[in-house]
Amino acid sequence: MSDCLFCKIAAGEIPADTVYEDDKVIVFRDINPKAEVHLLVIPREHIPSLNELSEDQDALLGNMLHLLPQLAKAQGLNDGFRTIINTGKGGGQLIFHLHMHLLGGKNLPGFE
Ligand code: 5GP
Ligand code: ZN
Repeated sequence: MSDCLFCKIAAGEIPADTVYEDDKVIVFRDINPKAEVHLLVIPREHIPSLNELSEDQDALLGNMLHLLPQLAKAQGLNDGFRTIINTGKGGGQLIFHLHMHLLGGKNLPGFE
């Protein structure tokens, strides 16, 4: 997806404050953080949203979920964290490359 912002970040074409990466996943700080810690966890593969997820991507999503507690601990979030996945316009999704928000620390936003 040549015009996808998060594909460009995953490819290193647009800079990001990356905190973790492997061959399938990259994690970077949100440019407009809604809490003290606000990370975005994305697959390198372009999946627009949960609406387009297929069963052969279940393992990838499982890996991303398992990564969350490790990322939280590495950020000093020993007390817990919040995970948000916005899906579709009605779900508040702005970037159509699947991503998990990992939020924690001071100023943790509530549900709105
Ligand atoms: P969504 O509303 O799609 O779930 O969330 C998109 C998130 O991407 C927003 O929290 C927004 O601040 C973040 N974002 C948008 N553009 C950039 C960017 O260029 N770099 C980074 N690091 N985050 C971005
Ligand atoms: Zn993409």
